[in-house]
Amino acid sequence: MTSVRVTHATGEYTVHVEPGALGRLGELLGRGLGHRHLGYISDDTVAALRAQWNLQLPQDGLFTFPAGEASKTRKTWSRLSDALLAAGYDRQSAIVALGGGVVGDLAGFVAATFLRGIPYAQVPTTLLAMLDASVGGKVGVDTALGKNLIGAFHPPAVVIADPLTLLTLPDRVYRAGLAEAVKHGVIADAEYFAWIERSAGRLLARDLEALTHLVTRSVEIKAGVVSEDEREGGRRAILNAGHTIAHGLEQESAYQLPHGEAVGLGLIAECRIAERMGLVADGLSERVRVLLATLGLPTRVATPPAMARVLEAMLHDKKNRDGAIRLALPVALGRMHEGQGKYTVPVTQDLLASAVSGLAS
Ligand code: NAD
Repeated sequence: MTSVRVTHATGEYTVHVEPGALGRLGELLGRGLGHRHLGYISDDTVAALRAQWNLQLPQDGLFTFPAGEASKTRKTWSRLSDALLAAGYDRQSAIVALGGGVVGDLAGFVAATFLRGIPYAQVPTTLLAMLDASVGGKVGVDTALGKNLIGAFHPPAVVIADPLTLLTLPDRVYRAGLAEAVKHGVIADAEYFAWIERSAGRLLARDLEALTHLVTRSVEIKAGVVSEDEREGGRRAILNAGHTIAHGLEQESAYQLPHGEAVGLGLIAECRIAERMGLVADGLSERVRVLLATLGLPTRVATPPAMARVLEAMLHDKKNRDGAIRLALPVALGRMHEGQGKYTVPVTQDLLASAVSGLAS
């Protein structure tokens, strides 16, 4: 087992990473949450897997919703909150989020608002949720005007990641998490990036030892950044590497392009921009492209994206200031631009357009 401590403004919590951790879920939850009445929140796909994982949950303490991003709404949040109230949950209760990032964001938001906030545990079951979404305390729901627009900062009391659960993930969902791990290498750790290059075969085969290292190192990197800047005032912006262009591409595709695939494409395009601006030596974008391709992630788009719509989406990015689109960009493999406390740089629309259209050639 490995564990990582994550500190935040009002305390700290442990992320346990251990194949087989679900087998001693009760004990690990007890250590993180104390003695509390637990309400488990999950989606129907994950809830159906619990027999396969030998996971016994109290039938009257399990609250589920249909799997998928379309459920991450205020409607599901209110339905879950009402069900917990009707079942007698109170301030001495706690929530356990069992599932991917959708469950974690939604259940975390229920916990943040239930009786003005009760503790919760994250038990992530997708790679993306293990190495990214379950850490950092951002919780919330989507609205018709955009993703994650209503939410809160509510750090979990404990995170319990069992890499064995990743064996049932569909390939495409699994690989989406690998794109975020590549991003962690680019922003903070050249040696970790090189380890992913060397370990691609084991990672694609979902070797448990390789997965445990992957999740642990990524969580350490994310934890290091969010501990310094919990509320996204400064350095946390570097976690957005690749994401500004990714959001533009996702929105332009009307969310047909999966987020993880968009992040990989965004990372390549943003590294190319850093090269063209002379911030980083040529060659980084190609190294990133080759690794993503090796991991089975797309590195080009089939048809050129409608640039006006991509730009429109990027213009609404929350990192922007004074109407300029700003990106978090690398200055070397494993190091991001951090000039005088400014973690993003303004980028011209011409440069953005040429990098995005470059993804189609
Ligand atoms: P998800 O939760 O929808 O899971 C993807 C699919 O995999 C779902 O159908 C789910 O039922 C299924 N699944 C989950 N675990 C499984 C398993 N072990 N075996 C088989 N199937 C399984 O999506 P996701 O990719 O995990 O997360 C995406 C969400 O995470 C987005 O809403 C995004 O906004 C959010 N997110 C949040 C943060 C944050 O900091 N809070 C960071 C990144 C992403």
